[in-house]
Amino acid sequence: MARYTGPACRTCRRHGEKLMLKGARCFTPKCSVVKRHTPPGQHSSARRKVSEYSLQLKEKQKARHIYGVLERQFRRHFTQAERRPGLSGENLLQILEMRLDNVVYRLGFAGSRRQARQLVQHGHITLNGRVTDIPSCHVKQGDAITWKEGSSKIVPYQEAAQEIESKLIPSWLSLDSGNLSGQVLSAPSRSEIETTIDERLIVAFYSR
Ligand code: SF4
Repeated sequence: MARYTGPACRTCRRHGEKLMLKGARCFTPKCSVVKRHTPPGQHSSARRKVSEYSLQLKEKQKARHIYGVLERQFRRHFTQAERRPGLSGENLLQILEMRLDNVVYRLGFAGSRRQARQLVQHGHITLNGRVTDIPSCHVKQGDAITWKEGSSKIVPYQEAAQEIESKLIPSWLSLDSGNLSGQVLSAPSRSEIETTIDERLIVAFYSR
């Protein structure tokens, strides 16, 4: 599955906020948003009139970059969200949160969603005891997520084992930090999803 491979820090500068795309580096003074407060580009400081459309587009792009999803797949997630009962925006965030790569990140197995995606693609993660190498695979209530046997030798596993105690795990997931395994307790409600995304703007963008 294709993914965005462009410069992560440039994306954050364009949005004017930390999207936490690079793991540990995002918490250091090396973060580009901390070092440079302007958007990228020669005329970045020029004042431009911001239309409603550009606000909506920007919010949709921000969500795509945070979760590392390309347009076609993002649109597919939105179509799924619209078909579900309830608010489309909240359904969309729930769908994005329940992607396997995001759950691996939220459990603290990886420092960023990019790294989580790579761990899944390289077959280091099991879902209900079976290796699953599809990052966009959706988890459901009761699913167990853990590392593949033999993956304990790789550096990301050792880093995760060292740092797992300091990670904050969302209330809709449970973590066995001793065995580095997790479980989905329920689908997350909107209040359980920690994000700066305004999903109403995304709904407005696709409803034009
Ligand atoms: Fe964004 Fe992280 Fe780069 Fe900072 S270090 S600009 S938060 S990707």
